[in-house]
Amino acid sequence: MADGSIWRGVIHAYRPFLQIAPIDPVTLYEGNTPLLPAPRLAQAIGFHGSLYLKYEGLNPTGSFKDRGMTAAITQAVAEGAQAVICASTGNTAASAAAYAARAGLQALVLIPAGKIALGKLAAAMAYGATVLAVEGNFDEALALVRRAVEVYPIALVNSLNPYRLEGQQTAAFEICDQLRRAPDWLCIPVGNAGNITAYWKGFRAYHQAGRIDGLPHLLGVQAEGAAPLVLGHPVDHPETIATAIRIGRPARGPEALQAVRESGGRLLAVSDAEILEAWRMLAALEGLFVEPASAASIAGLRRALAQGLIPSSEGTIVAVLTGHGLKDPEIALRTLSPPITISAEWDAFRRALEPILENPLARSERLPFPS
Ligand SMILES: *Cc1c(COP(=O)(O)O)cnc(C)c1O
Repeated sequence: MADGSIWRGVIHAYRPFLQIAPIDPVTLYEGNTPLLPAPRLAQAIGFHGSLYLKYEGLNPTGSFKDRGMTAAITQAVAEGAQAVICASTGNTAASAAAYAARAGLQALVLIPAGKIALGKLAAAMAYGATVLAVEGNFDEALALVRRAVEVYPIALVNSLNPYRLEGQQTAAFEICDQLRRAPDWLCIPVGNAGNITAYWKGFRAYHQAGRIDGLPHLLGVQAEGAAPLVLGHPVDHPETIATAIRIGRPARGPEALQAVRESGGRLLAVSDAEILEAWRMLAALEGLFVEPASAASIAGLRRALAQGLIPSSEGTIVAVLTGHGLKDPEIALRTLSPPITISAEWDAFRRALEPILENPLARSERLPFPS
């Protein structure tokens, strides 16, 4: 922090803005993530103002979910809970499991069987959660969890839990503190719609407190195969490679629609091909390896610029990169060219090396970047 004090997590940093029990936080010192300028990416997508990326993959369990989880688990401890439960496309599971471990609580997580990225499942298991794989999608898993908390004394830590949103607002606070103003646009992927709702709550709170003069427009981005808020109706069988936003009945849908409307923003849907291209651009142009859902914010921005929904000549835009690329290593292995295998001999190495040195671009031919 600028004043030289030690960072001790988002509750410690922003307590006066958060409605949460006044106990010592359960924290992994989450938050305080970088806001990185992205000039090469901006140029590639035709934006001539200032583009920044809020790199939430650098949170302790690799996604922004930790901001909400420190608040939800702290509150659960204050209320005397012994166990917590959530349905999850993966990152909520990993985060709940980690914070529950830190608090000494039991964690139960329900995931859609076969539809969660490898790094998320591995983490939830390692943190000691009980993982139940539901033969169904996220929405069905969440319906089971909602029923369970009516019957059993278990605390729900999905973003239906208001403390999750309390904690997640802190990303908006940090962006304003880092920029010393609000951005003109905030681009953010939308799944269960908790995060976009929390950001809007955060920006409004900062505005009311006189910390920022204006409010940003929100650009919420869904995947085409899982775009209930864009379509205006639930999607029974959501499909997208961006598993973190593979949700057909967003629990915070109405609040998200209201936030976008109030902000004078937009919601749009992008294809998996657009998500993958944005994902490769983030890595190859800016050195940022994110999970596919995170790249949806850039795919959406690119489309909004192309359609003239967002002015391309000026302004300050922040895109939220919600989760780390190491969460989903399989997507890289599935979509990129594999390494060239050579024998451990000088001649074989030379035969492989020389054409590469002569034509350094040959290996990136599968990256159809705009010129
Ligand atoms: C949870 C998540 C999202 C979607 O956030 P919602 O609050 O469900 O809209 C996007 N990206 C990643 C990496 C996530 O983990």
